[in-house]
Amino acid sequence: MNTKSILSITKQSQPLIIAGPCSAETEEQVLATAHQLKDVGVTIFRAGIWKPRTRPGSFEGVGQPGLGWLQRVQREIGLPVATEVANAAHVEQCLQHGIDALWVGARTTANPFAVQEIADALKGVAIPVMVKNPVNPDVNLWLGAIERLEQAGIQQVSAIHRGISPLGTSVYRNNPAWDMPMTLKKMRPELVLINDPSHIAGNRHLLAGIAEAALARDMDGLMIETHLQPETAWSDAAQQITPQALKEMLTKLKASHSGL
Ligand code: PEP
Ligand code: MN
Repeated sequence: MNTKSILSITKQSQPLIIAGPCSAETEEQVLATAHQLKDVGVTIFRAGIWKPRTRPGSFEGVGQPGLGWLQRVQREIGLPVATEVANAAHVEQCLQHGIDALWVGARTTANPFAVQEIADALKGVAIPVMVKNPVNPDVNLWLGAIERLEQAGIQQVSAIHRGISPLGTSVYRNNPAWDMPMTLKKMRPELVLINDPSHIAGNRHLLAGIAEAALARDMDGLMIETHLQPETAWSDAAQQITPQALKEMLTKLKASHSGL
């Protein structure tokens, strides 16, 4: 089992850029996307292997074979890789495949039993874990999940702000509820705090404005879903952008944020 991660997710002067498809779909898609993202200057490649779909009947991820595809990204493209875990079995498989970083999804963060199971499976393992905010506006539930992982001995736990489920209509798929990450930041100023404009927006046209607002609030990084042909993506098609569009977005953000 590979329990040593070379990746460090710590506060840096440069925002951390995590990008990759919502879901790993095929081996070719994963490798070609990672190849293009390497040139964009992305720090970590993301791809979901087990997908927590809100309603049944949609694509639920390629499962374990996708971990081998991520290993090829590490080996052949030289990018560290991250995927979502929702239970102990996911954790074991990721550790066996030497995945560099994990994230806990918003639906899982809302369930302390699941988070505890993940924390127990990670006891004593040196791997960075990013925790998305829960789907409901409960900063203590978010912090509680972070603490469960810290108490299991994980040194590099960070937070991802992905907004909260709106009741009724909203321009956003998930309302940003900026107060929530800002409250977490006040409670735990040393925590790395990453913004996920993709899941907040639900729509690629709103991404740049959200990313801008996050960097203006001094957040430490961005996680952005990227697909070679976004409109054909097997999940979250409306919110993904091409690696080229990501490059252009980051160039524009650079103009207003000197660290980028
Ligand atoms: C994802 O990152 O693809 C995902 C499922 O996100 P969230 O948990 O924020 O819905
Ligand atoms: Mn997604």
